Amino acid sequence: MTHKKDIASDSDSQSKVIEAKEIEASKADIVYKIEPTSPEAHLFTITLTLKTPAKNKQRFYIPAWIPGSYMIRDFARNVVSFSARDDKGSVSWHKKDKQTWVCENYTGVLRICYEVYAWELSVRAAHLDTTHGYFNGTSVFMAVQEQEGKPCHVLMTPPQGEGYLTWKVATSLSRNGASLFKFGWYKAENYDELIDHPVEMGEFDLVAFDVSGVPHDLAVYGSENADFKRIAKDLKIICEHHIALFGELPKMDRYVFLLMCPGSGYGGLEHRASCSLICSRDDLPRRHEAGVSEQYRQFLGLCSHEYFHTWNIKRIKPAAFIPYTLENEVHTRLLWAFEGITSYYDELALCRTGLITVESYLELLAQTVTKLLRGQGRFKQSVTESSFDAWTRFYKQDENAPNSIVSYYTKGAVIACALDLTIRHETGDHKSLDDVMRVLWESYGKPGKGVAETEFESIVEEVTGLDLESFFETALYGTDDIEIAGLLRLFGVEMILQPASSLTDKGGKTLAGSADELRADAGMRVSLDAQPRIIQVFDKGAAQVAGLSSGDILMALDGLKIDGARYEARLNRYRPGQTITVSFFRHEKLMQLAVELQAVANETCYLQCSGDTRGWLAVRK
Ligand SMILES: [Zn+2]
Repeated sequence: MTHKKDIASDSDSQSKVIEAKEIEASKADIVYKIEPTSPEAHLFTITLTLKTPAKNKQRFYIPAWIPGSYMIRDFARNVVSFSARDDKGSVSWHKKDKQTWVCENYTGVLRICYEVYAWELSVRAAHLDTTHGYFNGTSVFMAVQEQEGKPCHVLMTPPQGEGYLTWKVATSLSRNGASLFKFGWYKAENYDELIDHPVEMGEFDLVAFDVSGVPHDLAVYGSENADFKRIAKDLKIICEHHIALFGELPKMDRYVFLLMCPGSGYGGLEHRASCSLICSRDDLPRRHEAGVSEQYRQFLGLCSHEYFHTWNIKRIKPAAFIPYTLENEVHTRLLWAFEGITSYYDELALCRTGLITVESYLELLAQTVTKLLRGQGRFKQSVTESSFDAWTRFYKQDENAPNSIVSYYTKGAVIACALDLTIRHETGDHKSLDDVMRVLWESYGKPGKGVAETEFESIVEEVTGLDLESFFETALYGTDDIEIAGLLRLFGVEMILQPASSLTDKGGKTLAGSADELRADAGMRVSLDAQPRIIQVFDKGAAQVAGLSSGDILMALDGLKIDGARYEARLNRYRPGQTITVSFFRHEKLMQLAVELQAVANETCYLQCSGDTRGWLAVRK
């Protein structure tokens, strides 16, 4: 309880702090003020005060991409107004390119003011309406060219109006006068830090927990009736596990999980002391709900993934990312190591902490193997090529993606697993990938040394004392399949490949009943619309052989009208080898083709624990 007198003295001391910070900011070189000026129109207004601009011309630019998501997004396209002034009045400016503003003919302090349109509910951008605000610095803060290394002071204010008095702020950005979860003054040591602490503002649910003496917060927007205490308890277990693996939590004042829960959606983005997450509000466990649902298991895996990145990519980094060049693409062949290894450990950690069973973990691993085996693109692109071309291929996937590319997440995770098992086996269980991760942290992440393009391989060989040249040659630079089944068998796990039991079979589950009745495969993915459309046509599959293409609109099979909901049932009435007549529209012209159905291939993986996993999957206390 707080007495009225205390409130008065609290607010007195608070206003003194604010005053002191305003004086400090008035002396600072770079000060940002960010105001959600128009939640209804989704507009933030940012005022940047620059005390010592360059002599003749001052350039300001906004990043083209956000670290962690390797695609040019051109955040400058959301800057909807721009003005500049000095102590005397308005200052002339022009744009140099798509993302750079240039001010000229000013004296003294230069002040720019711009509005940012924020209406993208994703972890990569900014979002503002009357219910909440969320932003990444890359979407809202312009960099001051040539002064990126200077401290940045930030004043955050709530929207104007009675309805916003209850809004709070959640961020891992250092407070510089602002009270915990309040608007006010914040500070970053440089621009790189400024854009690495996303901010949530509004009426979010909040759960606090402590990990290794460091306060951790979970701030949730958009979900009611979830069991936040249970979630926090489970997150703490995951965090402690990752900290034990690396040996320590990197130095930070606090860590924040920012979670947005719309009706649907899924994704996460890592930051140095926080992560942004999106999941469906239905994914979270309700109060008194027991057990781990598939959705909650996926959510825990997502949190585990982003927290693992606190070391692996936020601090252990490709040398090419030190520093980040934010105006254009930065290529590295190493993304498989940062996303693949993280994808391997995110689910493994759930098993090692006992949050899920060994069987549940093997189901997830089998689904990863299934995903890999279903793409013929794995024979065309290596995982290092996939990493390098992430910007234009993995992040810009078209209908031909399964035939032309391999995911550095999926194949990277399988490589990480194969590497871990190889190390464990060849060293008689004395070493594992854990040892490699610890050395990467101690020798690279902690001192801030980047990992050079082919250095990862030599680090692994040095840590383990093994000659892994041929393993890496095949796994990283080749397109042959990884010999995962033999490795798994050494650890008491049998890998079974079987045909998918349905179009939605993701793998991981054993076939119920007999598999005598072979299902027919048309070799294409079809939308569930009333008028089903071909989404993808798989290499050498029945549809491709017959001449069907993505975009074709299916009308009838053997003269009978079909819709998306009934497509699978209709297809299941046929057997492999039978030929069906497919009627479809292409470019609004009615066409017909004979399609000879194939048998569903044995590329759906099921893993069965048949023996001792030798400490690989043991629960660690
Ligand atoms: Zn990741």
